[in-house]
Amino acid sequence: MIELSHIEKRFGDNVVLKDISVAIAEGTVTALVGPSGGGKSTMLRCINLLETPTSGTIRLGEETIQFSPGKKTGWDAIQRLRRQTGMVFQNFQLFPHQTAIENVMEGLVTVLKWPKDKARARALELLQKVGMEHKADAWPATLSGGQQQRVAIARALAPSPRVLLCDEPTSALDPELAEEVVEVLSRLAREGTTMIMATHDLRLASRVADQVLFLDGGLIVESGAPKAIFQTPERERTKKFISSLS
Ligand code: ADP
Ligand code: MG
Repeated sequence: MIELSHIEKRFGDNVVLKDISVAIAEGTVTALVGPSGGGKSTMLRCINLLETPTSGTIRLGEETIQFSPGKKTGWDAIQRLRRQTGMVFQNFQLFPHQTAIENVMEGLVTVLKWPKDKARARALELLQKVGMEHKADAWPATLSGGQQQRVAIARALAPSPRVLLCDEPTSALDPELAEEVVEVLSRLAREGTTMIMATHDLRLASRVADQVLFLDGGLIVESGAPKAIFQTPERERTKKFISSLS
């Protein structure tokens, strides 16, 4: 359902993604692990086109975009592809001047032009899904980090994206609050939500991921089932990294 072919991303002379090719099936969870600076965030940002790949092809559902240096990507194509993605960030990034439910409604109302009552009903449904309906009218600042992240997940899911992209969704949280976010993400995984998540949290990756990609220096160095990657990594680089975390 999602296919990256020979994706390269440069910032000036710095080649941050070198030659990324991967296929991701619908309903599966892919974890991106690896050292800081390895290109995990850039890979996620290329999938929703917050960054434009320098070259390569991205296919997402029916939408295929080919990138090459000097070729401008049409705004319509960018919008169509981006709308099939939802993004969750390390630091939640809720709109501080909106309540929890308003945060979840925002994209539906302003981007998709849904009427407010329909958007509110959908938002409430999603807040229920992440166990936050009792805080629908709360301001983000009054919520714990774990609660804010659960609202952010509901917001990302509101327009029914094909894929949920999560960039270090538990990194800013204490273990206890991280756990409630892990619970929500594993429930979504069981329900068949397609997800790609960058994470340092091997427990999260082991619990929810179907495949793990080990990213280092802009390359997928090793990939496979979580158990294989974490317990019997083949590459020296992967072994070192895994043992540095545990
Ligand atoms: P990770 O998420 O695995 O830590 P990143 O994708 O954030 O890795 O970063 C990979 C490399 O890309 C780093 O060397 C970083 O400095 C560089 N990089 C990321 N974003 C930009 C940017 N907007 N401009 C220049 N360099 C960037
Ligand atoms: Mg990152």
